Amino acid sequence: MHLSRFPRVHLAHLPTPLEHMNRLSRELGTEIWIKRDDCTGMSTGGNKTRKLEFLMAEAIEQGADMVMTQGATQTNHGRQTAAYAAKLGLGCHILLEDRTGYQDGNYNTNGNVLLDHLHGATTEKFPGGHDMAGEMERAAEKKRAEGHKVYVIPGGGSNPTGALGYVNCAFELLNQVNSSGMKIDRLVHATGSSGTQAGLVTGMCAMNAQIPILGIGTRAPQPKQEQMVYDLACRTADKLGCAGVVKREDVIANTDYVGEGYGLPTDSGIEAIRMFAELEGILLDPCYSAKGAAGLIDLARKGAFKGERIVFLHTGGVAALAGYDFAFDNTDRWVHL
Ligand SMILES: *Cc1c(COP(=O)(O)O)cnc(C)c1O
Repeated sequence: MHLSRFPRVHLAHLPTPLEHMNRLSRELGTEIWIKRDDCTGMSTGGNKTRKLEFLMAEAIEQGADMVMTQGATQTNHGRQTAAYAAKLGLGCHILLEDRTGYQDGNYNTNGNVLLDHLHGATTEKFPGGHDMAGEMERAAEKKRAEGHKVYVIPGGGSNPTGALGYVNCAFELLNQVNSSGMKIDRLVHATGSSGTQAGLVTGMCAMNAQIPILGIGTRAPQPKQEQMVYDLACRTADKLGCAGVVKREDVIANTDYVGEGYGLPTDSGIEAIRMFAELEGILLDPCYSAKGAAGLIDLARKGAFKGERIVFLHTGGVAALAGYDFAFDNTDRWVHL
C-alpha cells in the first residue's frame, strides 16, 4: 500500500508524539499511552488536519479557489479547514448547524468560531436538524454561478479521501511501536462522523496488525455508528485497492457515553477533562475527546482492559473549550491565602 500515490499537502506536524500517561495509568490501574493528535499543528491541532492533508490536495488538484464545509457551531473540523484554506490561499465558507440550542455568548462566538473568523473564513448559521448537505450544495452552486471553483468537503472531512489521513496514522503508530519494540493491545478514541475510525481500521487491517480499535461514540446509536464506520472503511479500502480487508466485526463502537446528545457535555466527560488536565496536563474538549476519555476511564475502572497496554488517540478539540466555559464550575479555584 503506497499512500504517496495520492495527492497530499504535507502541513501536519507528524509523527505526533506517543507518550506514557504516568499518573492516569496509576490512578486507573491500567497502562495507558496517548497518541497526541491534538498536536498536529494546524491552528491548535486535532484529527481533521490529517484528513485535510489529502482533501486539500484534491481541492488544489481540481483547481479550486475556495472550499466549503459544514458542522456544528463549535466544529473543530471547520476551524482546521479555515486554517488550511488560509495557508493555501483559498477562500473558505463554513455552514454551521445549531445542534445544541445554546444561547451562550462564548458558545456562539468564542472558541472555534473566533478562530474560523480569524483565519478569514465566512460562516452562516442554520437551525438544528436542517438538511446541511443539501444546503451546502445550494451554497456551492451559488458561488459557482459567481465564477468560483468550489471544492466541497463533507462534514468532518469523512469520505474515502479524508480517511486516508487515518490510514496514514495507523501506519505511523505501528511504525512508532515497532521501532521501539513496544507491544500494544488496543486503540481507543472518540468517533463521530466516522472518518477517523474508518481510516484506522482500514490501515490496521491492511497491515494485518491485529490491534483491536474501540470507537467511543459521540452522537449516533451503536448500530448506526458502526454501520457508518464500516461503510466508509469499505469505500476507503476500495480506494486503496485492497477491497475486502475490513470485516464487519473489525468495527466496534461503544455509544454508552454520548449522554443526552451531540455537543452536550456529560458529567463523566467533565470528570475526564479534569482528570486529564490535573493528572497529565493535557486538555480535552467536552464534545468529543472528553466523551472518548470518559469511556476509556469507565471501562478501565470496570476492568475491561485487564493486563492490556492501551493507546488512547487524542483527537484534539482544545479550541472548543473556550466556547464551553459555562460547563465548568471553578469557583473553588479562587482562594485567598
Ligand atoms: C471530529 C472529531 C472527532 C471525531 O472524528 P470523526 O472522524 O468525525 O469520527 C473526535 N474528536 C474531535 C476533537 C473531533 O473534532
